[in-house]
Amino acid sequence: MNIQKLWTWIDQNGERFEAVSDAVWGFAETCFTEYQSSKLQREVMEQEGFRITTPVCGMDTAFIAEYGSGAPVIAFLGENDALPAQSQCADVAEPKPLTPGGNGHACGHNLLGTGSMEAACAVKQYMEAEGISGTIRYYACPAEEGGGAGTSDCTGNLRRSKKRPSKQADRITALLMILSIWAEALRESRWNAGI
Ligand SMILES: [Zn+2]
Repeated sequence: MNIQKLWTWIDQNGERFEAVSDAVWGFAETCFTEYQSSKLQREVMEQEGFRITTPVCGMDTAFIAEYGSGAPVIAFLGENDALPAQSQCADVAEPKPLTPGGNGHACGHNLLGTGSMEAACAVKQYMEAEGISGTIRYYACPAEEGGGAGTSDCTGNLRRSKKRPSKQADRITALLMILSIWAEALRESRWNAGI
């Protein structure tokens, strides 16, 4: 695999996804109310050529974006919910609420959700360009914070639903969430270092 091709695409499209992350930061929607965040991400994924399924398991802010068919199934998991009473001005390294008592992304889910989504798009375009077959999925999971529907419960519900992910996807979903965070952190450090 030519990793440089992935980095080139990510660098060329970085500003688009940073704008999504900034918007999700601004929406600051808490568990099960990620309506604007979910809508924006669905629009981006549709533009990128993914098929959208929503709601999922009765959760209005959950969606699955899917591209391609057959094996392997490569899945990315994103969360988009904020935390209550954690409002914070961006780029300030001390407590400074944007809205006193308001919601905020203290856990960085604006980066987590958008970074996972960007990773799914990068892999999709790589598979297209290289003529590689398979399925890419992005699972937008609501309410990781407090709602119990996020990382574990959402994927658990998905396992029990008709939209059951394949066993391969079950096994790698959590791993790719971690890799997405790592990729986002790496991109940030590259950016900071001016590379
Ligand atoms: Zn969190």
